[in-house]
Amino acid sequence: MGQGLKNRGCTRADVDERRAAVEEFSSTKLNAIASYTIDPESARSNIENMIGCIQIPLGFVGPLHVIGEYANGEFLVPMATTEGALLASVNRGCSLVNAGGGVYVRIVGDAMTRAPVFRTKGVSHSLEAIKWITENIDAVREAAEATTGHGKLIGLETFPNGRNLFLRFSFHTADAMGMNMCTIATEAAARLIEKETGAVMISVSGNMCMDKKPAAINMISGRGKTVIADCTIPAYAVKERMHTTVEAVVDTNYRKNLVGSAMAGSLGQNAHAANMLAAMFIATGQDPAQVVEGSMTSTLCEEVAGDLYISVRIPSLEIGTVGGGTKLPTQAEALEIMGCRGTGKSRKLGEIMAAAVLAGELSTLGAQAAGHLGKAHAKLGR
Ligand code: NAP
Repeated sequence: MGQGLKNRGCTRADVDERRAAVEEFSSTKLNAIASYTIDPESARSNIENMIGCIQIPLGFVGPLHVIGEYANGEFLVPMATTEGALLASVNRGCSLVNAGGGVYVRIVGDAMTRAPVFRTKGVSHSLEAIKWITENIDAVREAAEATTGHGKLIGLETFPNGRNLFLRFSFHTADAMGMNMCTIATEAAARLIEKETGAVMISVSGNMCMDKKPAAINMISGRGKTVIADCTIPAYAVKERMHTTVEAVVDTNYRKNLVGSAMAGSLGQNAHAANMLAAMFIATGQDPAQVVEGSMTSTLCEEVAGDLYISVRIPSLEIGTVGGGTKLPTQAEALEIMGCRGTGKSRKLGEIMAAAVLAGELSTLGAQAAGHLGKAHAKLGR
């Protein structure tokens, strides 16, 4: 089954025909999967073998006060999830950060990477290839940028190892997350390098990129947007709205996010950053597999003049407001709620997402400090 069907057909009739074949094969009626609003033609570049849509409940948190360079003001943030209690918790976090005057947030890095691996004849060949690349970087850039109107090559790091040469290309990708853009541009540059140096490209992705896997290189150097955010929550708000103390939240963060994460060998030092990111990624058409990079967030808490200082550093937030799943109609509407749809909006979206991560971290730390986490999930999530 399958091979006889028109895999790339994207009309409703194609989708119906394919679903009927799956129903017959699996002896299962797919009435819910058959009920959807997305025009399959608009999802042509998003999926093959389409048979319908999976629906995920969508809600919102906020208003969330963001003091960013691109996002300034109060925002309602759409989140799609099946985890009861998540939005209630993040929403409480929003009210707390608003009591603290809002989340200050800045993007300190913005580059997407692709790192092909080449086979060379050995160390001296790798070094010769690096010499050629260094001396001909303008030609390499020209080859890469000829494939894209928006991508700009801003860096190229070299990592020789035995008969392997890894080249880590970094691109500004404007408002696209940029993974397709960078892959196409890198491949063009790599073909030129192959021709001129004799190094043989084995894979356009040699895993030093590093995409969709947790990795120290992204945690340290960043990939996509690197975002830092902080806020100071007045002690009264911690007491009244989280029913705990500044001291207890700081202590919980230290023992859980710092000591516990170190003991577990975690690359992230946070409570559940991936939770907020996954819900926002799904709502806004991001690639959900890249939540793994966002999971390497660092959350810090300190008592400052009696109040609660909290910060997050998200080293690798891979998002866009054009391309990929962002153009699908429901996802585009979700982006529109925040004024983040299309050209010129990806940094604004990155700032809002970071502020929402901070709000979610705060609320969960507060719940754990107060001993309320299990109770909230029992009440709201079952
Ligand atoms: P894309 O949908 O493949 O391409 C977006 C294109 O939009 C850009 O290449 C650009 O064309 C154009 N564009 C128009 N206005 C733009 C603007 N203001 N800023 C930036 N670009 C603009 O999206 P992508 O972000 O490159 O890739 C995302 C997709 O890649 C997702 O679907 C994701 O799931 C998938 N993905 C691919 C790989 C891979 O290895 N290929 C890995 C992970 C994920 P020009 O380049 O012509 O200017």
